[in-house]
Amino acid sequence: MERVYNFSAGPSMLPYEVLEQAGKEILNYNGSGMSVMEMSHRSKWFDDIIKEAEADIRELMHIPENYKVMFLQGGGSTQFAMIPLNLMTKGKCDLVNTGQWSKKAMQEAKKFGTVNVVASSEDKVFNYIPALDSSKFDPDADYFYITYNNTIYGTRYTTLPDTGNVPLVADLSSMIMSEEIDITKFGLAFAGAQKNIGPAGVTVVIMREDLLGKAKENCPTMLDYKIHADAGSLYNTPPCYSIYIAGLVFKWLKKMGGVAAMQKVNEEKAAILYDFLDNSMMFRGTVVPKDRSLMNVPFVTDDDELNAKFIKEATAAGFVNLKGHRTVGGMRASIYNAMPVEGVKALVEFMKKFETENK
Ligand SMILES: *Cc1c(COP(=O)(O)O)cnc(C)c1O
Repeated sequence: MERVYNFSAGPSMLPYEVLEQAGKEILNYNGSGMSVMEMSHRSKWFDDIIKEAEADIRELMHIPENYKVMFLQGGGSTQFAMIPLNLMTKGKCDLVNTGQWSKKAMQEAKKFGTVNVVASSEDKVFNYIPALDSSKFDPDADYFYITYNNTIYGTRYTTLPDTGNVPLVADLSSMIMSEEIDITKFGLAFAGAQKNIGPAGVTVVIMREDLLGKAKENCPTMLDYKIHADAGSLYNTPPCYSIYIAGLVFKWLKKMGGVAAMQKVNEEKAAILYDFLDNSMMFRGTVVPKDRSLMNVPFVTDDDELNAKFIKEATAAGFVNLKGHRTVGGMRASIYNAMPVEGVKALVEFMKKFETENK
């Protein structure tokens, strides 16, 4: 079977070349006579894989020496608990509620302390990033939490709050390496891999060193960042194969010219889709233009039956996983790094044709 254009929000497309290379190496990695899936995480081969993956992520994101990079398990969702367990020394944090993932982070943080919600966009089904009033920030908070890109609602921050000495903590799951960010603005940033950097199973955590070692005394060992940072992410068996594929994705990204070059491509892809939506008589985007995500593009028609018909016909034509999240309805096209420009152009051509045929 031919490959489809997969617009899934996650797990999502991987670069073709990465899958091809993984296929070539599946039985015998680099002369080891075994698959990466089979080898010891203490082997020389895997040691090279994880060290190179870390070096590449540092290069791609310009991560300075005073930050640790960790490859952890438990998905983005485990971070919702690890963050308060490790950072809530005074027992309170600030948080901006921009959707379901922020809410989940909030619910988890509430188990360990007080969460001050400084702003929310819930009043309009999270279709914008709320303006932030710094007089509502608690200067004494342990950290300030944001979801940088909101996968479900298709919004993203374009400016970051100035939180002073309070460490900014960000969920980068659905935007990591899609656009340039200044990592030094964050005390801690994390991303589950399966949106933009690899298969599910590994979560990248980037953390400023001075924030390490503050975990509560009863913090489970596996949830203590310091344990993992000190052990170079090899305290226990890491998700070796996911790290290996993520490493191949980092190499691919470097070959593509790095994050700045990828950002240009992503802006081009997003513009193609948003321009079409802004001019269509049938389809429209659901997000306030200034807060539109480069990665997740929710859109609707005004008719649920037409939405269903579109999704069905798109799927048959090889544009898959376009169904929107149930809380937004309609459609959502996730156009992460691995989605080529041609995929977005082909989708827009298909939408034009659908619009003509269903006027
Ligand atoms: C997908 C996603 C998560 C959850 O990731 P899991 O790895 O499934 O736990 C968290 N935050 C954001 C923004 C996401 O898109």
